[in-house]
Amino acid sequence: MSHGLKELPKEERLYRMRHSAAHIMAEAVLKLFPGAKLGIGPPIETGFYYDFDLPRPLTPEDLPRIEELMRERIASDVPFVHDEISKEEARRLFADQTYKLELIEEIEGDTVSLYRHADFVDLCQGPHVERTGQVPPFKLLSVAGAYWRGDERRPMLQRIYGALFETEEELQEYLHRLEEAQRRDHRRLGRELDLFSFHEEYGPGLVYWHPRGGRVRAIIEDFWRREHFRRGYELVYTPHIGRATLWQTSGHLDFYAENMYSPMDVDGQDYYLKPMNCPFHIQIYKSRVRSYRELPIRLAELGTVYRYERSGVLHGLLRVRGFTQDDAHIFCRPDQVQAEIEGCLDFMLLFFDAFGFREFRVYLATRDAEGKYAGSLEDWQMAESTLRRAVEDRGLPYQVDEGGAVFYGPKIDVKLVDAIGREWQCTTVQFDFNLPERFDMTYVAADGSRQRPYMVHRAMLGSIERFLGVLIEHYAGAFPLWLAPVQAVVIPIADRHLPHAEAVARRLRDADLRVEVDDRQERMQAKIRDAQLQKVPYMLIVGDREVQAGGAAVRLRSGEDLGTLPLDEIVARLVAESRPTVG
Ligand SMILES: [Zn+2]
Ligand SMILES: [Zn+2]
Repeated sequence: MSHGLKELPKEERLYRMRHSAAHIMAEAVLKLFPGAKLGIGPPIETGFYYDFDLPRPLTPEDLPRIEELMRERIASDVPFVHDEISKEEARRLFADQTYKLELIEEIEGDTVSLYRHADFVDLCQGPHVERTGQVPPFKLLSVAGAYWRGDERRPMLQRIYGALFETEEELQEYLHRLEEAQRRDHRRLGRELDLFSFHEEYGPGLVYWHPRGGRVRAIIEDFWRREHFRRGYELVYTPHIGRATLWQTSGHLDFYAENMYSPMDVDGQDYYLKPMNCPFHIQIYKSRVRSYRELPIRLAELGTVYRYERSGVLHGLLRVRGFTQDDAHIFCRPDQVQAEIEGCLDFMLLFFDAFGFREFRVYLATRDAEGKYAGSLEDWQMAESTLRRAVEDRGLPYQVDEGGAVFYGPKIDVKLVDAIGREWQCTTVQFDFNLPERFDMTYVAADGSRQRPYMVHRAMLGSIERFLGVLIEHYAGAFPLWLAPVQAVVIPIADRHLPHAEAVARRLRDADLRVEVDDRQERMQAKIRDAQLQKVPYMLIVGDREVQAGGAAVRLRSGEDLGTLPLDEIVARLVAESRPTVG
């Protein structure tokens, strides 16, 4: 190797270290399972993986054994050696490695590049570290199923993931972040807090909202609707299916077909489940002649759409096959565009504020100079400068995704940064120069001429499902009071305190608070613990003293004890706290 590892940029060093660790892991697995068939083993962003075809499923106990063999190999400090052989030799060398043979056939030319260390050899372009001793701290994390070449029709292999960083400190920091992400995993919390479920056997990627999840969702949707009405949006409801002709006119059957489900036959006609709401909103716009005086028209819908996603990419609420967009379409005149875009951004900021997101990243996607595009160049320039100005006027830092726009218009994408620094796609504000043309949308201008309106698609939260998934992880399930499905649980110490507990609950319910009485035959401590596990913000404990005083002993889920408070004070406190804090 021409230069030493230390002189390389950090990224390049890590790449080589991670790739080398993958080879060392493959060697260790072969030692434990001599018949193992090897897939591929690349470095990844936080470490490495390798895919194996093994005689039995790996268990968590296997990982330390593999790690041990790896550490021995690292300690032996043998060199990585590059080699090149002919295809014919490679076929002999990998005669019992079916997956490698498949890869060999795809190599162009007759030379096959190899890397060896000790007795292990792999098909490989490199580069690697010079010696096994240069592999820094690592940890094997997990085993997951992975189809050979990502193809669902090919064999399912076992993929071992490892984390690898240059220093023990960096590794520990990463493992801590990983643990935190697992603690917050919305799929686990969704089960534990009884918010939602999936029923794979009746269709993967389809969410069932349980009563508690349903409450949180209803709270978000009520807030969403109220704020939309306040900002001059009109609420609409549109069908879930539409005839093929609609999707032909919209163009979805041409450019979006792979995301749509197969048609169903209705009276000899093809109907499709909607993947988007836009064509329906356009029909509402077109239901009568529109005057320039009516614009802007803002049509909003919590519209449930269905899109095909490969089963391998489905992930809890974050990637599903049926979801509800918090969708709206704005139809306006050229002189209104700037104000409308600014309105969208201000609206977005209100939502982020209300839901406790302090950090987000803005991306502006502009026209692809190479590709085809709908609309005129002037339209695009106007739209791009409008988006840019709206972002800049608000002092929002942004990145430009040059050429990243879809063919029908430029857009702004906004990604939320959650409590542990991960980015989530959320808001989109998207110009469309295609659909108004295809559906021949017009309005009557002041001079009596027919003009095309501008059309903007926008979603504030994106998908209600994904947003809730993000929200659960952001709060680690401990929703603020205004979003908590159960805001308070009343805990009677003994059966004789039950009537008072019921009276306390009634008072809270009358004030529109969400309250439950825990009347199970359990000890008080057990009830408090369960309420804490359920992340209920307030526990109101009632015993003899509270019955006499007419109040309740107040405990927070954090464990803080507020002592016995009069009922009026409790109600006033909870009511004040259950408004979203905005502005
Ligand atoms: Zn390699
Ligand atoms: Zn749309």
